[in-house]
Amino acid sequence: MKTFATQIISSDGMFYFGRLQKLIIPAVDGEMGVLPGHEEMIIALKEGIISYQDAKDVWHKAAIGPGAIQFANNRCTIVVDSAEKPEDIDVNRALEAKRRAEEKLQQKLSEQEYKILQAALARALNRLKLMNQDHS
Ligand code: ATP
Repeated sequence: MKTFATQIISSDGMFYFGRLQKLIIPAVDGEMGVLPGHEEMIIALKEGIISYQDAKDVWHKAAIGPGAIQFANNRCTIVVDSAEKPEDIDVNRALEAKRRAEEKLQQKLSEQEYKILQAALARALNRLKLMNQDHS
């Protein structure tokens, strides 16, 4: 079975370290699959759901914040703002973050404030999306 070494690093530290058979990432221009022997690349990731199949055939999912992925010499390094497994997501916190962002987005805002709140809303919706996927 072919695999590639992977590390997923978030602001909180090492989120995942191991070998994968397959990885699906939220690239800025859409979902993208990564397999062993992928060509060299460095690309940006947006907030979204990452799925990965480990060497024991188990699929995992996580909500990630924006970041980047590098693939070179059959080694993959992902660096992201945040990463959470479904079991670590606090749904009430995400709902509260969503409510707060939506409320503030109703107000008169500078362009920068608007972008910050849109990003916060996207993070909250992404966390909630992962939970809904898991319950479906
Ligand atoms: P909040 O406004 O609730 O703090 P946020 O989107 O601003 O949310 P981030 O800056 O993306 O939070 O992440 C800060 C830290 O909190 C990271 O470690 C992230 O994994 C964690 N985190 C954020 N929201 C949640 C959540 N709903 N459940 C579990 N962990 C969370």
